[in-house]
Parts: sequence; C-alpha cells; structure tokens
Amino acid sequence: MNESLRQAIAREFQPARLERLTRDIAAIEKTFCYRRFAESARYCYEQMREAGLADVQLIELPADGATTHMDFTMPQAWDVEDASLEIIEPAGGAVPLVDYPAMPLCVANRCAPTPPGGIIAEVITAQQLRAADNAGGAFVYTEGQHPQTLRFEAVAKGAVGLISDRSPAREIAPNETYWINGWCSPGWYETREHMPLTCFSISPSMGKLLSERLQRGAVRVRASVRSRLYDGSIYTVTGLLPGKEEREIVLLAHIYEPFPCDDAVGAASLIEIGRSLAALISQGALRPLNVGVRLLISMERYGFAAYFQDEGVRRRSLLGISMDCVSLSPTRTGEPVEVRYSPASMPFWGDLLLWRMANEELGGRPLAAQCGNLSDDTFISDLTIGVPSQWVWTRVGATHHSSLWFREEMNDWALGADIARLIAGYVASLATADKQDVEQFREMTLQGLVEEARSRQREWGEAVAQGKLSAQDVRQQARFLLEWGAGRARSLARTFPSVDARPILGQIVALGEELIAQFPCSPLLAEQTLSSAAREAAGMVPRRATLGMPFSQARIPLDERMPGGFEQALNWADGARNLWEIAQCVQCETGVATQDAWLERFIRYCRLMERYGYLEIR
Ligand SMILES: [Zn+2]
Repeated sequence: MNESLRQAIAREFQPARLERLTRDIAAIEKTFCYRRFAESARYCYEQMREAGLADVQLIELPADGATTHMDFTMPQAWDVEDASLEIIEPAGGAVPLVDYPAMPLCVANRCAPTPPGGIIAEVITAQQLRAADNAGGAFVYTEGQHPQTLRFEAVAKGAVGLISDRSPAREIAPNETYWINGWCSPGWYETREHMPLTCFSISPSMGKLLSERLQRGAVRVRASVRSRLYDGSIYTVTGLLPGKEEREIVLLAHIYEPFPCDDAVGAASLIEIGRSLAALISQGALRPLNVGVRLLISMERYGFAAYFQDEGVRRRSLLGISMDCVSLSPTRTGEPVEVRYSPASMPFWGDLLLWRMANEELGGRPLAAQCGNLSDDTFISDLTIGVPSQWVWTRVGATHHSSLWFREEMNDWALGADIARLIAGYVASLATADKQDVEQFREMTLQGLVEEARSRQREWGEAVAQGKLSAQDVRQQARFLLEWGAGRARSLARTFPSVDARPILGQIVALGEELIAQFPCSPLLAEQTLSSAAREAAGMVPRRATLGMPFSQARIPLDERMPGGFEQALNWADGARNLWEIAQCVQCETGVATQDAWLERFIRYCRLMERYGYLEIR
C-alpha cells in the first residue's frame, strides 16, 4: 500500500468502533431468532447512513420456505423461547443435558417445537435407528455424527427428534457445544417441503454420559422446546461509496448468525471501512473513486443470491470481497490467516496484489495463500454470475461454530482491524487507480505470475527427481498454471480497459514453452488408458442452463435430490470441456487426484441435473 494511503487509513479507521459495532450486532443475534433480525438489519442500516454512504437501502426478503433466489429456497422464519432436555430414566434424579438460555446453541437452528408441555421419550442410538424399521416416538442420539446425515431416516421412521453431540472441537473442548446451523441437505435449511424436526445439540462430554447410560440399558428423556416456524422476513442492507463509473467493488458480510466473529465483525468492518473511506474522500485525503465501493450485508448464501440475481447488479460488480470471520484468533485456532484467491475458473489478477499487500500489512502473522473455490461467501465466482471473489480470514480449524467462539479470548481484535484496514487500502487502491498506478499493477502482475511459475518449477523439479510426479503430470500442471495466468492477465484488461494484455500473454506463452520443454516425456508415455468411467465422462459435454449452482435443488422432487459438492467442478463447464477434462481441471486446481468413484458420482449428478434443466449435456 502506498505510504500516504496507509497513513490516511491508519488515522481515520477506528478499531474501537469496529469492536463496539461488532459487540452491538452480536448481542442482538446471539439467539439467532428472526424476531430480532429486523433489529440487527435496522442497526446496520442506521450505521451505514451515519457513516456517510449513499444509496443506503434496507431490502425486505420473504422468509417463507418457498421463495427461491437462483436455486436457494428461503427457509421460513423461526424463533425459540425456551428449551430443556433431561434424562429421567434410569431413575436416580433427573440429569439435565442442556442449559437454555445460558447456552443458546443447545437448540439447532430451526429446531421444531415439541408438543406443549414437552414429551417423554426413549433414546435410541444412530446404530439402532439404522437397524430398525420403526423408531416411532424415540429420540435418536447421533453418536458424534452431524444430524444432517440422520435427519431424513429419523423422520421416515417416525422418530420425534435428534440429540447430537457432534463437535469438530471434541478433543480440544469437550464441554463446549457445537452450533447446528444447516442440517437439511441439499440446501442448508428446511423449506415447506420438509417435515420439521426437533434437534438438540449437547456437548461431547454430555454425549459421553448419555452414551454410557445407553450402554447400561434403556434411557428416557423429558424434552421440551418452545419454538415457532412461521412466514416472516429477513433483510439485505446495502450502501454505496459512489464512483465516477457505474462499476462497483462489492464487500460482503453476512449477519443472522450467533457469533461475534461469524459474522457480526464482518458487518461491523464493512461499516467502518465505508465510514473511513467516505471521511477520507470528504477531507480530500483520498481521491474521488473511479469505481464505486458497495457494502452488502445479508443472509449468508441466500441473501447474496437474492442480490446477485439482478442482471444489472451482476454487470456492475467488478469484484466481491468477503469479510467473514476476520477476527478469529490464529493463536487460539492454531491456523494461519488465509488469503483466498478468486477461483482459477474465475481468474483475477488482483490476487497477486492482495497477496503482496497482505504480506506488507499483516506482518509477523502466519499467512497462507489458497486457491479459490465456490464457498458460502465466494460462490459469486460462479461463471453464470461472473464476479471474481477474494477473502482474507482466519481458518477456523476444529473450532468451527463451537461455543468456544463466544469466549472473549477467541477474538483477536487487532487482527480484525488489520484485515479491515488491509481491505480498505486494497479497495481504495483499485478504486482510485490513475494511469501510473495501473502501469504499476501491470508490472506487478507480470512479475507475480513469473515468480509463481518459477517457484512451482522448482517444486516440480524436486517432485520429478523424487519420483513423486511424472513428467506428464508436471506438463499438465504447468499448462493449467499458465492458462490460469493468462486468464489473470486478461482480467487486468477488464478491470482497466486501458491495459493492453497482449505483451503479458506473449511472455506467459514463452515462459510456458520453456517450462514444458524442461520436462520432456515420450509420446508413448503420454498415451493414457482411460477407465470406463473416464471414457463415459469424456463423452459428456455439459453446459450450464440456470443462473447459479444447484443448491436447494428446488426443481427436483424431494426424494430424487442428491447432495452435491460439485460446484468447483461445474465451474469448469464452459460448453466446450467434457466431464473428463473438467475432472482434470479439478485435479490440477485442488492437487487431489480424481478417483473413479468420484467421477462415477459426478456423472450421476450431472445426469440428474440434466434431467431437471440445470445442465444441458451433449
Ligand atoms: Zn460466516
């Protein structure tokens, strides 16, 4: 970041304000109930207006279990009043397994109510559920599994609910409770098509207690949940720092989840970045923006899908940057701060600038660069949506969605402020770039691409020498890297139309020829024997037929839906590549070899998506 910009942002940005806004939003949302979502949205709206943003809007979205944006079906609104769960048999005094409202995560998001007054029910294990034809009236103890894996079977066999002790943090924090958010796959949340179900989340140590009792004989519990599913609303809040052009860089943060770090801090950092940049512009300390900077706060995935459904929005949006989980302490998670690039299937030159700036601004912290994907906060890099996306955050590791996240020490406020200032500087650099800056970006991009290729070249040389990779593997990876590089160079010309990308492309081609010549392989070796799955895949050329990836699979009858996980792969479907070539791209992108079992499932999935109009296959 140039020194005067760094100093200006350091002067204006107020870390204490970031912290205060985070705490305010998190306090409203701790119980993740819709009855308070209007309040948190209104709070963000007022803060954006006070921050001096233009075009501030509070947009109401239906939470009705039916309205579908792209392929995200909005769940109904949900509130909970009270919950209790205790072992009453074997006799010897009731043993409470949850503590509501002290631990709000003990009820799963959208947990169905029990009959008024509660119920008494037998508890069976997940194993017993699988073996039984009928689980009528029982609670199912999930034995460490995510409730999502048992939900449909439990409903089909007449169980009254689930008791989950699932927790990725069970080793490090056995007394903490895991938040069960989405537990209805495909899609995260139940819609009107699904049967509501009661679900408790208990800590692994309470799970151990329950499991020990179950081993000794029959266990009965008394359970009560007072909750309500109903037609309601949820909201998008957006505001703009206007630019001279219509184009916009979009900063994204979701709210409506219970943790300060996930993601009240994201909304707070958006507002403080917006306020700081607006103040600097009005002081004349920052040049007026060429492209606008938009702040977008909404419901994760679903609300973003509603926003980007608009064709004008997609055309205007130049880049999306997620601000999810920016304050989680790397010391506590034991994980590095990650700079997530735009996916290779949506190449973006700014990765090289962001990586360089992150190294300057987050100095001293462990940093990891990560090739992008189409995750909850970056799915707008879908080819049909068309927006490159980036994200700087702390990897959550085993602490993901654990009640550990309510603890003060899990937040590294200094890191949150540093990431917010980094992003403020990054977007300001892009939005105010003049001719000279653009020339620097051009040089930096070329240099970054060459450095990246050289460092991979060294790794490949060693891997071939050690017999870990064949020359043929390396050639494939080199071609992939160079195509990605060429895509990044072309994206520079899209960001700044004055740039002529051709000289960079010429240099990338020359570099590619040199790299590939270094790893000769005989034509005989290059002949591949394809498995039958690979041959079938090679005969299928998919083309996307809908906006956004299949997520809820709303077009498909409930009992035919198939969990996906193929977003990253499908983003290579450009109407020219066949499924086998797509699998090769995924292999290069993830560094994980594609297995036949995966390919067979991918083929089945694509056939299903074709049948319901998500894909066309020729
Ligand atoms: Zn999040």
